[in-house]
Amino acid sequence: MGLTIGVDIGGTKVLGGVVDSAGDVLVQTRRDTPAQDPGETADRIIEVIKELATAHDVQAVGIGAAGWVDETRSIVQFAPNLAWRNEPLREKIQQAVGLPTVVENDANVAAWAEFRFGAAHDADDSMVLYTVGTGIGGGIIIGGKLIRGAHGVAAELGHAVMVPDGHPCGCGRKGCLEQYTSGKALIRFAQADAKARPEDAKRLLGLAGGDPEAINGPAVTEAARQGDEVAIGAFGQVGHWLGVAFADMVQTLDPQVIVVGGGVIDAGDLLLEPARVSYHEQLAQRGRLPVAEVRAALMGNLAGVVGAADLART
Ligand SMILES: [Zn+2]
Repeated sequence: MGLTIGVDIGGTKVLGGVVDSAGDVLVQTRRDTPAQDPGETADRIIEVIKELATAHDVQAVGIGAAGWVDETRSIVQFAPNLAWRNEPLREKIQQAVGLPTVVENDANVAAWAEFRFGAAHDADDSMVLYTVGTGIGGGIIIGGKLIRGAHGVAAELGHAVMVPDGHPCGCGRKGCLEQYTSGKALIRFAQADAKARPEDAKRLLGLAGGDPEAINGPAVTEAARQGDEVAIGAFGQVGHWLGVAFADMVQTLDPQVIVVGGGVIDAGDLLLEPARVSYHEQLAQRGRLPVAEVRAALMGNLAGVVGAADLART
């Protein structure tokens, strides 16, 4: 198959691109997402696809959406930020643009892009992606195939309970991984420690205008780079829990590679070093057997477009 279109639908933007079989984006275009109107969002996606299809001979369309997508890759069952409830997106888009279309969960799409062209391109069998952003997303590839699950909801890695009766989660459970290792968790840890030990958070508090409540993610990263103890400690806590999750994952699936993406990975080794330490400490087979290497994602903002376009070929 020659060229395909990938469309990445987020809460704020619809980003589309024409992608070749090597994963290179030939041209891209974007629109704002009218998030509260499901009909208008579909119209915007159709606009993006038609614009891209006029200049290139494309053969299929892949769409990555932040939400639960059914196992037939057709219906967005529920998208918290896009006002979609049981939206028959595949049918709608296919009819409007006249191209075979598939719909995938956005984290699955990003995982596929990393597996095919990014941080795990040398893996031929298996990979697990953790996207550490405001929350936690995940994607799992086993035997060279994306694992969607029996009902399309596999790899919701953020809502496994790490701490019994721990911090309440938006999903209704308590102590979910996402409450201990995510952008939200990083800020919560940093704010709590800056209040408890302001003398160790001088740089961090300086960046937040002296107000612990004003501490945000970029401030924690910047302060940690400058050697602020509380900021480094917040990454240490987030990394610790991420490493525990890796060890659990390895006991379950034993993938070739674990990839970490999402906004928080911009901090690089501030996050990955403590994660690797606790990962290796937590493994039951400590040092006796080879295990998955942990790598930072490489595809950046184009992961959604490239992954969706490539999944349209399969
Ligand atoms: Zn949860």
